Order: sequence, then structure tokens, then C-alpha cells
Amino acid sequence: MSPSNLASVAVGRPVRGEFTYVVPDGLSGRLSPGQRILVPFGRSMSLGFFLGPATPPPESESVKLKPIMKVLEDSPSLPPDLIALLRFAAEHYRYPLGEVIKSALPPGLTKAEEEKQAKPDVQEFAVALVPEAPAVLRRAPAQSAALAYLLAVGGRAPIEEVAHAIPGARETLRKLVDRGFVRIEEEVIAPGVKEGLAQGRPDQLTPEQAAAVTELHTAVDLGGFQPFLLHGVTGSGKTEVYLRAVERALEHGKGSLVLVPEIALTPQLVGRFRSRFGADVAVLHSALKDRERLFHWQALRKGSVRIAVGVRSAVFAPVENLGLVVVDEEHDPSFKQEDKLRYQARDLAVVRAKQAGAVVVLGSATPSLETLENTRRGRYRKLELKNRVDDRPMPTIQLVDLRQERPREPLAQEEAPILSPPLLDAMAETIGRGQQVILFLNRRGHSTFLICEVCGTSVKCSECDVCLTYHRSQNRLVCHYCGVAHPVPEHCRECTGPLLKMGIGTERVEAEVAERIPQARVARLDRDSATSAERLTELLASFARREIDVLVGTQMVAKGHDFPGVTLVCVVMADTSLAIPDFRASERTFHLLTQVAGRAGRGKDPGRVLVQTYNPDAEPVKRMLAHDFDGFAEGELGRRKVLAWPPYTRMAAVRLEGESAEQTASVARLLGDFIGRNMPPASWGVRLLGPAIAPISRIRGRTRWQLLLKAPTHAALAPLLARLEAKLVDIPSAVRVTIDVDPAAML
Ligand code: ADP
Ligand code: ZN
Repeated sequence: MSPSNLASVAVGRPVRGEFTYVVPDGLSGRLSPGQRILVPFGRSMSLGFFLGPATPPPESESVKLKPIMKVLEDSPSLPPDLIALLRFAAEHYRYPLGEVIKSALPPGLTKAEEEKQAKPDVQEFAVALVPEAPAVLRRAPAQSAALAYLLAVGGRAPIEEVAHAIPGARETLRKLVDRGFVRIEEEVIAPGVKEGLAQGRPDQLTPEQAAAVTELHTAVDLGGFQPFLLHGVTGSGKTEVYLRAVERALEHGKGSLVLVPEIALTPQLVGRFRSRFGADVAVLHSALKDRERLFHWQALRKGSVRIAVGVRSAVFAPVENLGLVVVDEEHDPSFKQEDKLRYQARDLAVVRAKQAGAVVVLGSATPSLETLENTRRGRYRKLELKNRVDDRPMPTIQLVDLRQERPREPLAQEEAPILSPPLLDAMAETIGRGQQVILFLNRRGHSTFLICEVCGTSVKCSECDVCLTYHRSQNRLVCHYCGVAHPVPEHCRECTGPLLKMGIGTERVEAEVAERIPQARVARLDRDSATSAERLTELLASFARREIDVLVGTQMVAKGHDFPGVTLVCVVMADTSLAIPDFRASERTFHLLTQVAGRAGRGKDPGRVLVQTYNPDAEPVKRMLAHDFDGFAEGELGRRKVLAWPPYTRMAAVRLEGESAEQTASVARLLGDFIGRNMPPASWGVRLLGPAIAPISRIRGRTRWQLLLKAPTHAALAPLLARLEAKLVDIPSAVRVTIDVDPAAML
């Protein structure tokens, strides 16, 4: 058997490794890597992916190899650089290759069926004919929301996309057409067509932008893998730098991939790409329909669309001739997928750029310590934007020490207030000037726990090991882990004592603002209020139209919004995220505080930030007050080094979950023993922490255990993880075990 007769194949089943098949004579010459094929597997047929020629198996394993049955497509769905990335992901994250490939492909290509073309290549676009939502739409919230979305993304978007952002928008857009506010255009997406839009392209870059752009242009011109960190303060114009780099790649006929944390929260960014590059942009968000996913996949694969802008999963988009990869807000936790293939899209973006020989830019005002450490070691080049666009000043940040600045006595409400006099004064003054306020607190609900005044017992979820949050709007106690809502008990279950509502959530802050500053128009932005994409878009648009004076919200208000009317940002309690038992708590707190502060003073009026806290001496609070990212990073990296946490250590978490507490504990011990027996030599520096019960010991009635592995490098961990993955086959299925490589959350 000649080696060219053998094919290495990934089978679309949850099985490890690659498989060797025989290429029958009829198919030789018709195979190219990345093609979907049909192969016999076990007793049935399965979808497979041809990866390339295979080397013959050793004589000893003289199994009879089976033939490939059929080639399902002429041109391969997977380009070569993507095959390399998917192979890397399967290996690194210990996940079956066939499943990795299936999770990357659009659903239309994951069945064992012949190729279908996404038809037609005609897309319908909605075009806004008015610059803002007219007053007559005030009573038509659905139409107003659809129009607001359209305007926010640059005035023109595929109907499909609007309909996904806002369910039912197809109908709504038709009504808007009847009223003359919107026009529908059909567009045939043809290769190489690019509209000469270039709306809102500033003539002049700031000197810092210009310097960064020059470096990136040089790198793009040169070609080849080059990683950069773009560290630019909030409002320094990072997006414009990305846009210029994408332009340059296009001039070389190269494609770009742009990853962003959440599209629904920052439609402006999509708008800027679309208004610059028109139909050359595919927007890949999480709510696309199957048909649409297939359409985008094939358009990118053919090279008829050359730029992909999308969330986490877009790291797998088949951009042709990839020249540039951008990861905006690279520190954002949403780049980590927390189920199935538990990948970190920012990390894969760098790997992808390396395999494709592309330039990669990781941008942030608050880079992750991992990325920063790569810069310090000289692996990434650092580009800095230290000033805001137009010499706008950074906001002034002021501390309010809650131990001294006691909030005024309660008025009508029963609970102790949380807004201190300096905060209330600043808010009233800002609103009086016709400007807007953002109030940030990273906890939703009204009170975050109920506690018995007599015996001190707090009310917990019966299925999860967490306190229940009181939601006044529903008059229910809600578990934020399993989502179950319970009626509010009258008395303590243990001793019948009265229950006190403790801990502050956004609902309560909203109520307090309404009570203290009655003239203010207040709204709340969190997962409870933004129940649908429609509500979310409408809320953001309404705030942008300045129909809301005060926006109270969770981390959703801290994202990359650009609201020029906001001159005051208040952090209601800087300490909330510090007490979490996670080595990243301090970093996360610093990121959130800096990001939310960055929403202030982005327009012509200067911004101001007030930070309430009980912990004015906490590192992230102190450093954020001084705009001192470098100082914070320096100190935090020092601590991480001493305690051997990332980025000085690579980690893997082995998580267990089971109905039976005893069985879960015993499997955890069994895996602990297994790891102990399979430990590499001590010189490799691998350490096992645990098995231990997880910090949140129960969710949805299932007991949780975890084991943590630490090592100086990933290479030191890899053989052990491979053995562990193979061992999982023997674990009783009642206990679910997952391997989480480079874990983000420690809970
Ligand atoms: P960042 O992402 O760094 O927070 P943005 O990219 O959102 O900042 O830019 C902030 C604002 O400045 C945006 O409204 C953008 O349109 C504007 N802007 C960016 N670059 C320039 C420039 N060179 N000249 C004028 N305005 C600019
Ligand atoms: Zn629960």
C-alpha cells in the first residue's frame, strides 16, 4: 500500500484522534485537504473531514483499513490555515477533533450530505432614510427600535441582521418602508465589489494614532506573523487604528478578521466597519440563522467577502488570504467559551495569525496580564495611545469614602440608602446642566441576600450553594445560578425571626435615584431589564437620544459605549467584585472600574468619575483613581509571580459534577490518585491542587468538585492531560468530568 493511498480523516463523532482510511482508485486525484467526505465508522456511515495524506500504520496494527465512500464537495469547506487551527484547538483543549471541526462549521455543513450552495447570493439591505427616529415613532416602540438599530450600525444593514438583533423586525421594517423612513435594496454580492463609502473617515489621525498606524502598515506590507498589543486609553481612537490596518490589508488583497466581545452592546463599532467597507464585511453574531451562517461561510471562503467582524466563534471564520487579525477589548471575559470546546478566542486568534502568517493586533485600555507579560518578554510589540482624541482630557476621578460620607437617613424606603451626599449632589448638578449620568454596580436585583435578624441564617437556593437575590419588580427571590424564582418568605425558616434585606443591587439603586432626584429620568440596564435584544437596543438608543438622564447598570454599561452626553460616571460600590475567591478578582475589578470610568467625557464636555467604596486602600481602587494601569499591573504581576498564578504558570482545571455527593467525591479522589500516579518527573514542576469541593459546592442540585493543575509551561502539562482525557472513558457517566485548559473562572 503506498502512502499516497492513505488518508488522515477527522470523523464527526465524539472520538479522539485522527483515523486512517484508504483512498479508493476512483477518488484519487479528487481529494484535497479540508473536504467533507463520507466514511464508514463503526457500523454506520459518518461525516468525515479529509485532512491530508496519512503515513501507513505500523505492521503490528494490521487492522483492515476501510475506504472513503464518497467526497461530499468539490471545493473544501475548510481552508488549510483553519485546519491547522482546529487541530491545534483539539490538541490544546483536549476535545475530539471531529467535534471541534463541527463546532466551527455552520450547521448546513455538519451533516453527511452533498454540498449545498447558500442561495441566493442576493442580500436584502434596509437603508435608513432619516438621520434619527422621528417623534411620530414614540408610540411605536418596535419600529423605533428597528430604526434605532439601523441607525446605530451606520444606517444600512442586511434585513437578516436587523431581524436577528430585533425579532420580528422583518414586519416592522416593512411598516417603516410604508411610512417612508426606510428603503429596501437588493444587492448581489459579487467578488471584489466594494462600495466607495468611507463615511466618517477622519482626515487627520492623532500623532499617536498615526505612529501606531505606520507601524501596522509596515507590518502588513511586510507580511508574515507579527503580534502587537495596542494599549490605548478609553477614547483614544483605537477603532480608527484597526480600520486603517484593515484598509491596508485590503490594498494587498488580503482579508481581515475582527473579534469583538458583544455586538448587541456596541452596534456603533459594527456601524463603523460597515460604513467604511460596505458589503465587504460579514457580521457574525450569535443569533444568525443556519442559512445565513452558511451564506457568510461560503462568501468568506470564496473570497467574495473579505472582512469578518464577529464575536468569539468568528475566530473560526474562513477568511481567505488572511492578512490581519484584530481582537478588540482583548481583556474581555466573553472571549472564553465556558462549555463544550472551552476555548479562549483571543489566544486562538494569535495562533491563527501565526499559522496564516498574519499581523495580529490585541487592543485594550486595560490589557490582560497575560498579554502584558507577552509584551514584557518581547513576544508582542507594544503600540501606545496615551491620550484621547482631540486632546480631550481623561476624566477626573474622585474617591468617596463610605466610612466617612454616610448616605443620608432613609426616606420612605425601609432599607439603608447607598447614595452618599457627594454623589447625589454631583448627579443633580450634572442633570441640571442637561448632561447624562451612568451609575455602575455590578450586581443585579434589589437586595443581594436576605438574612435573619435573630439567628443570622441567610436564605439560600435549595438547589445551589448560593444566596438568593431579592427582585422587587417580580417580588421574588431569584437564584442567579439556576434561575429558579421562589416566593419571598415572611420569616426565617430556622427560627421564624424577621428577615432583613441586605446587599445592594441595581434595582435598589434605581429606586433610590428616583426617590432622591425625582426630576431625573432613570432607566436600568442589566440582564433583567434588557430581556430581549429589542429592549437592549431600544434602551441604548434612547439613552443616546438623551431621553434618559441616568442609566443605572451592571457591567453592561461598562462596555465600549460612546455616549458624548455622559459627563458623570458613578461607581456605587467599588468593592463588590473584590471579595470573590478568584485570583483574578483584583484584575477584574481594575478592568471594570477603568472601563466604566472611560465612558465619561467622551464628547466635548469633560468627564468626572465618583467612586464610592469601603476599601479606599484596595490596590485596584487606588490605582484606578490615579489612572495608573502600569503601577497596577506591576504590583499585580509581582503578586502573581510569588503565588505562581498565570501568567507565570499555566493551568488546567478538572471539573466534576454529579447528582450524588458521595459518588462525585469518590470519582474526584479516583482522578486525584490517577493524576498522582501519572505525574511527570518533579523537574517538570507540575503541581496538583485538590481534589477539593468547588467554591460553589452545588449548582442545580449537582455537587461540584475540582482539581487544579499548575505547571511552568503548557508543554509540561500536555502529556498528563492527554492521559487524563483517555482515562475519562472509564468514568461512570453519572459524574460529568470536563477538562478546562487555561481556565478563566475559578468558582
Ligand atoms: P476607543 O475605542 O479607543 O475608546 P474610539 O475608537 O471609540 O475610542 O474613538 C473615540 C471617538 O473618537 C469616536 O467617536 C471616534 O469616531 C473619534 N475619533 C477617532 N479617531 C479620530 C480622529 N483621528 N479624529 C477625530 N475623531 C476621531
Ligand atoms: Zn439555584
